[in-house]
Amino acid sequence: MLDRSNDLTAWDRDHFFHPSTSMSQHARGETPNRIMTGGEGVYVVDRDGRRSLDAFGGLYCVNVGYGRREIAEAIADQAFKLPYYHAYAGHGSEPSIKLAKMIIDRAPAGMSRVFFGLSGSDANETNIKLIWYYNNVLGRPEKKKIISRWRGYHGSGVMTGSLTGLANFHNAFDLPRAPILHTEAPYYFRRPDPAMSEEAFSQYCADKLEELIQAEGPDTIAAFIGEPVLGTGGIVPPPQGYWDKIQAVLNKYDILLIADEVVTGFGRLGTMFGSDHYGMKPDLITIAKGLTSAYAPLSGVIVSERFWRVLEQGSDKLGPIGHGWTYSSHPLCAAAGVANLELIDALGLVRNAAETGAYFKQTLTEALGSNHIVGEVRGEGLLAAVEFVADKEDRVFFDADLKVGPRIAAALLERGVIGRAMPQGDILGFAPPLCITRDEVDTVVAATRGAVEAVAATL
Ligand code: PLP
Repeated sequence: MLDRSNDLTAWDRDHFFHPSTSMSQHARGETPNRIMTGGEGVYVVDRDGRRSLDAFGGLYCVNVGYGRREIAEAIADQAFKLPYYHAYAGHGSEPSIKLAKMIIDRAPAGMSRVFFGLSGSDANETNIKLIWYYNNVLGRPEKKKIISRWRGYHGSGVMTGSLTGLANFHNAFDLPRAPILHTEAPYYFRRPDPAMSEEAFSQYCADKLEELIQAEGPDTIAAFIGEPVLGTGGIVPPPQGYWDKIQAVLNKYDILLIADEVVTGFGRLGTMFGSDHYGMKPDLITIAKGLTSAYAPLSGVIVSERFWRVLEQGSDKLGPIGHGWTYSSHPLCAAAGVANLELIDALGLVRNAAETGAYFKQTLTEALGSNHIVGEVRGEGLLAAVEFVADKEDRVFFDADLKVGPRIAAALLERGVIGRAMPQGDILGFAPPLCITRDEVDTVVAATRGAVEAVAATL
């Protein structure tokens, strides 16, 4: 029976349409409705006073941790001074201009301008439009298709949901739409031939991409989009040599690269950007989450100088660009971004992601590696995942109906730690705030071990 004695709980069941939630089960009261009320450092607290170590940083976004007064005060100061002004027709606000400069100072070489939005999804919608515009300005109207990867995650709009390569974001939504295509996921653990080396598998992925380009016609392919490390698709670092080989294919056919750094931007991998981490040479970079540590919604598209030059030609031919959002570079969000980037530098969080991330991966591997249901422990910086299998030797996966991943995430929560059951496969993901300490990592690892052993004993 649904408990209606508590108003908020009842109102939530009756009126709140939650994203990524079973609508029917939630309305019937069969899914948890945890109402969060506070947070400090890596911990969050709910209305019942339950404290949990948030080892997924919200949705891998609260990178500086909870309760940072510096960011809250920057937002409040800006709200008192100037809560809003638009950025259309050359207008701006002090924090948005300052933030653009700070982003370019931190971005990979060759980047020159930032277009601001509010979410990773809208930033990727902007990318698609800019790429189509770019090829129209260059007189190549047929060069419009965009290649994404199976298991990539790039948002849940119409076009960005199409870029996303996960079936649960397509089902019954009539997605994916043309002109979006998908190629092989760089998922070494799930390689087709177990005998393949990492390098050989990277070559296989590059060959698959080239085959697709050839089949479609290189003159029709505008861009390739990828996360430096696959995120929602399973938290999968690329196999050895992957980005070099992909980049070579893109260069050969004059295809633009969009690096979707919504998760990896601003330190998650132990470097400021994932593109630098893997030597990628993107023409466009998508940023969001870590830009403000989610203290306010803000995203951006960083464009290279080379790409920008073509956009400028477009304005000379066509007039002001017909693209923008009311809230592009909202001053409150930009103020949060400035304070957040200053905090990342002041606290040395990029270095902490590298060092504590390496410690996390090592201790997680030591604690779990020998468990018979643990197929792989993987990670880069402060992104990590454990993938569970029914048979380790033969890489046999569990039946999805057993819900092994969600059960382990639930057992972990009972032990006071939040991890994420990734949506496609039995995979437990971690992306804690970048300020996590070794002691807190020890807490996460011990709880994970307990949760995995408890669920493994029931299988
Ligand atoms: N791109 C990547 C790599 C993401 O992980 C996400 C969200 O998780 C998005 C884009 C979409 O961002 P948003 O949910 O802010 O629209």
